[in-house]
Amino acid sequence: TFQALITEKTDDGYVSRLGERELGDLPDGEVRVRVQWSSLNYKDALSASGNKGVTRSYPHTPGIDAVGVVEEAGDGPFSPGDAVICTGYDLGMNTPGGYGDYIRVPAEWLAPLPAGLSPRDAMVLGTAGLTAALCVEALLDTGLQPEQGEVLVTGATGGVGSTAVSILSRLGFQVVAVTGKQDAHDWLRDLGATDILDRAALTEGLDKPLLKPRWAGVVDCVGGDTLVSALKGLQYGCSAACCGLAGSPKLENATVFPFILRGVNLLGVDSVELPCEVKQQMWQLLAADWRPDLARLEAAEVDRSQLPEWFGRILQGGVRGRVVVKVAD
Ligand code: NAP
Repeated sequence: TFQALITEKTDDGYVSRLGERELGDLPDGEVRVRVQWSSLNYKDALSASGNKGVTRSYPHTPGIDAVGVVEEAGDGPFSPGDAVICTGYDLGMNTPGGYGDYIRVPAEWLAPLPAGLSPRDAMVLGTAGLTAALCVEALLDTGLQPEQGEVLVTGATGGVGSTAVSILSRLGFQVVAVTGKQDAHDWLRDLGATDILDRAALTEGLDKPLLKPRWAGVVDCVGGDTLVSALKGLQYGCSAACCGLAGSPKLENATVFPFILRGVNLLGVDSVELPCEVKQQMWQLLAADWRPDLARLEAAEVDRSQLPEWFGRILQGGVRGRVVVKVAD
């Protein structure tokens, strides 16, 4: 047997507690990994609170991120003892995730831990860091240069947003961070933001077809009216990378005007299903040239028994930065 955080449906709703699992409970898959560290993402909290869009059946072990050591390798490219990262695909959704001592997954889901990144560092970044890197990559692919002006990051104190602020600042961009947290302005400036915008201020003038063209690029973690406003304020021909829905999945106040009058682009970013080779490239960048300020990004280290209180906190948008989860002793 091994230990895992188990989420179950009870009369009091969905409850998560540390319990016992057997290796035989894990699904078929080529590679068994002994998990050392995991992390907390918004999606983990959705899984732990019964969100059927994320997890269909319970009891279930959440954890969309894991890093650890291969114990059984099957016929694939890995060998016992290899350090590997698993993020996304079905991990922690309907496949038992990183909050268990072990995961068993297809070899295609695994990326080697890059040199220069410790297992713990990899989980300070986790899916949030990978997604932030993908958003930055999407903007750079359009040819975006620091000279073009300010880049807006929404949901800036969240895991994806704060990592994006740190990477963009490192790459020489002026970053305007949008946050609802009045007490996080200094922290965002320390991470590299050059200016801070209050959430409510961004969506002023939502009834106008276009806003003053200010942003050279946008990383949006929030969706809804936040993304609609950001699109209206993009400079001619510039782009917004859309990765999240922390505010709303809807774009009900959107119009086509920013697209047809300013030629702006909306770039979709997915960190879950994209090929593992692309994830590996992003991990290499995160480990070296784009390495964010990991010490500042880290909000807390928790063990699995502390996770239930953190699920509530992240669902309420109350976490600043990244929470790393210790799995192995
Ligand atoms: P997170 O740590 O909870 O951050 C979300 C941030 O959004 C919050 O810290 C808050 O920042 C802001 N926010 C929360 N509620 C809001 C509201 N009602 N209105 C406006 N802003 C709000 O989550 P995360 O892990 O960074 O993920 C961010 C989003 O990206 C989530 O929707 C997540 O599901 C999504 N995501 C997508 C992918 C992908 O592959 N596409 C991967 C990872 C995450 P402030 O207080 O600073 O405003």
